[in-house]
Amino acid sequence: MWAKLYDNFKRIDLACPKCGSEKTVKVPLELFNGGGFGIIKIQVPIGGVCETHNFMVLLNKEGAILGYETFDMMASKASEAKEIAESPKDLKLQEQKEPPKSILQSYVNTYGFNCIVGYLHSKLFDYPAYLICRDEIDISLDDMEKDFNALIPQEYRNSHVMEIITYDPEIYPRPGYFFALAKNKYNDAFIINPNWHVIHVPWKININYEKVMLKNALEWNEPQNHFRKLSEFIERFIADIKTTVSFLEKVKKVKEKDLINILNKENPLSTFNKSRLRLIREFISKRITPEIAAKIVI
Ligand SMILES: [Zn+2]
Repeated sequence: MWAKLYDNFKRIDLACPKCGSEKTVKVPLELFNGGGFGIIKIQVPIGGVCETHNFMVLLNKEGAILGYETFDMMASKASEAKEIAESPKDLKLQEQKEPPKSILQSYVNTYGFNCIVGYLHSKLFDYPAYLICRDEIDISLDDMEKDFNALIPQEYRNSHVMEIITYDPEIYPRPGYFFALAKNKYNDAFIINPNWHVIHVPWKININYEKVMLKNALEWNEPQNHFRKLSEFIERFIADIKTTVSFLEKVKKVKEKDLINILNKENPLSTFNKSRLRLIREFISKRITPEIAAKIVI
């Protein structure tokens, strides 16, 4: 009987689009049994996945995540429309009165936390990135590209820029089909769909370290300095990479565990642990040289 009850749910891994908190939730199967082939929208209350935010998740009939929506995402779309309607002069007056804004937070509000984390990883590790948009949406990524490129030290600036792939819902009435085509074509790229959902990542490594960096930057108490904070975290990460490389250049091979101990002892200001070292190793392999990375025995 319990088994039967359990069977009445589908387990779905959700991530809060505002802060990236993750949780597996049980969704009643009956929600998927209705007629038609529409999108199922589920409202996730505060505490449902994350302790701070509520949001909507869009699922298809099979229970695959199609995307996320948050309430202030909808509000920000409405206010964007309003800002455009206002004259530039009014806008300037209004800006002066407002408290300092976090540009970093505004990108998270527009694209979702997990999309921004993945975008940051694709920049740091030099992967191509694509944003899929419906063709009626007029969007430019130039400012975002500029702001995020500025975070990366010159020598590691990405050779890729995020590109927009547009699709016409009249030609592709089932977006899922179009997304599958895009994944197939750009298999080595990071891809975001129009509903804040990361539909493809080309890396296998977990990017928790970047999640923590982004989260800590967004929690910094001076909103106007969120980007600067993030760039400090990245600088520290790059400094730790350089420390690791200069150690590795002197040895033939070293066990991961021993390397963590040595690096921690010699660099009391940084914290090296397994997940951070794995990311450092990946960075060395992808962006410096695989031979040096291979000296770490795991
Ligand atoms: Zn959250």
